[in-house]
Amino acid sequence: MKVFNLNCDHQHSFEGWFASAEAFDTQVAGGRVQCPVCGSTSVTKALSAPRLNLGAQAPPQRQTAVMPTAEQMQALLLKMAREIVASTEDVGERFAEEARRIHYNEAPERGIRGVTSKEEAESLEEEGIKVMPMPFARLLKDPLQ
Ligand SMILES: [Zn+2]
Repeated sequence: MKVFNLNCDHQHSFEGWFASAEAFDTQVAGGRVQCPVCGSTSVTKALSAPRLNLGAQAPPQRQTAVMPTAEQMQALLLKMAREIVASTEDVGERFAEEARRIHYNEAPERGIRGVTSKEEAESLEEEGIKVMPMPFARLLKDPLQ
C-alpha cells in the first residue's frame, strides 16, 4: 500500500491509500478518487513534506561586504609592500641600470625594487621592461615597522 497526500482543485488536502502509484493514476483518471470534503474528482498528488521543504524558495541572500576602514587598508597595503620587499632585491638608485641588465640577461633574473625617475621608468617600459610603481613604498618608512 502507498499513502499519498492529495489535493483537490479546491485546495482541500487529504490522504489516499492505493495499491501502487499506477493504481492511483488509474483511479484518478477514472474519476474514482473523490475529495472527502467537496467530492471533486480533480485530484492531484501533493508534494511530500520533505520535498516541499527542499523546493521552498530560500529567502534571497544579499551579498554584503563591509568596506575596510582606512586603517585596515593601510595594514593591507603595508602587508603587500612587505611581501614585495621580501621577494625583491633592493637595488636603490641602480634600479634602471639593474632592470636593463636583467632584461638583457646580463644579470640573474630576479625581482628588484629601487628608485627611478618617471622618465626613466617610461623608457624602461618602451624597452619592454615591466616596471610597477610602488605608491605605498612610503608606508615601509613608517616608524611602526
Ligand atoms: Zn475538495
